[in-house]
Amino acid sequence: MMSESLGRSLQREREFAAGGSLKGKTLEELTVLLDSWGEKPFRAKQIYNGLYANRYESWEQFTTLGKDLRKRLQDSTSLTKLNVVKHLKSADGTQKFTFESVLGSGKEFESVWIPSGDGGRKTICISSQVGCTLNCKFCATAKLPYQGNLKASEIVDQVLQVESIVGDKATNIVFMGMGEPMHNYFNVMRAANILHDPEAIGLGAKRITISTSGVVNGIRRFIERKEPYNLAISLNHPDRAGRKEIMDIEEKFSLPELIEAAKDFTKILKRRITFEYVMIPGVNMGEDDAKKLVRIARKMDCKINVIPLNTEFFGWQRPSSEEVEEFIRRLEPAGVPILNRRSPGKDINGACGMLASKS
Ligand code: SAH
Repeated sequence: MMSESLGRSLQREREFAAGGSLKGKTLEELTVLLDSWGEKPFRAKQIYNGLYANRYESWEQFTTLGKDLRKRLQDSTSLTKLNVVKHLKSADGTQKFTFESVLGSGKEFESVWIPSGDGGRKTICISSQVGCTLNCKFCATAKLPYQGNLKASEIVDQVLQVESIVGDKATNIVFMGMGEPMHNYFNVMRAANILHDPEAIGLGAKRITISTSGVVNGIRRFIERKEPYNLAISLNHPDRAGRKEIMDIEEKFSLPELIEAAKDFTKILKRRITFEYVMIPGVNMGEDDAKKLVRIARKMDCKINVIPLNTEFFGWQRPSSEEVEEFIRRLEPAGVPILNRRSPGKDINGACGMLASKS
């Protein structure tokens, strides 16, 4: 009798030989697939360019491929496109898209087009999971049931579909939608590589940001593999006890470990790290909190993005502009850049921490 693991690996091999959805495949993966069909590597390259640089949506458009190969691709792989189930436009120009991965599966996830940045910046905020397992108290995504990781194809296709619908291209991509990117590490990195590769979508690595709530083993892996992308850490509180109150992840990876990993990122990769800090009056905006945050920021090459709270759970309220100004003033002794990330799209529940599709 076949062992269970052999059965599983045969199953995987069969699925791979069949090709599946091609949209999340890297050049290496396409090359292996085409090689198993007895095709030359340049064919993989042609498909790769067609998928991501030319953004073909049907096999007829791949005119450089022979008829037989096109037929085989058509029969055994797919060029799936995400289904848009909802599209909302904010008065401020932000647009939110709700996608469904498989028709009728009920698994929905969201992306946000944010055109209003300084200096012509146009950002797409994309999701890495359907729901999230982390349970951050201030975040609406945490209120959804967790329904799993997105595939690389579903991550890449968020960008392709949003750009096709708005008729414009993003200058920046942030993995700050639903989910924890470090919990879906390899699909996120496969997608990021496709977004970055000049032969594919071609965005500079510095224009792609991976944001984590503080999954330290993921950060360590990111450093080890020398990923070229920006890294942002959602710090949100400057001490262990307070952080534990609002973020369950503090139980698993403590703040000192997180700070060490962040410091190592800056030292080993010689790059600046971003701390994100959602400002919640009465929770993390006191004079003492500011002092502790300054102490953390002084330890390494970093910048701080402060984000006014967008949700109102537990009776919490958005900080007033005076409160925000005062908090920022108290952070100035850190001597690092501080950016107030006004998050647009609140009227369509498209701002930071508001992505929760159905709810
Ligand atoms: N899980 C990853 C990716 C999601 S990013 C992470 O935590 O980094 C979501 C960003 O929005 C985080 O920086 C988070 O701190 C911020 N955020 C979450 N809920 C928010 C809210 N209600 N108001 C403002 N910002 C929020």
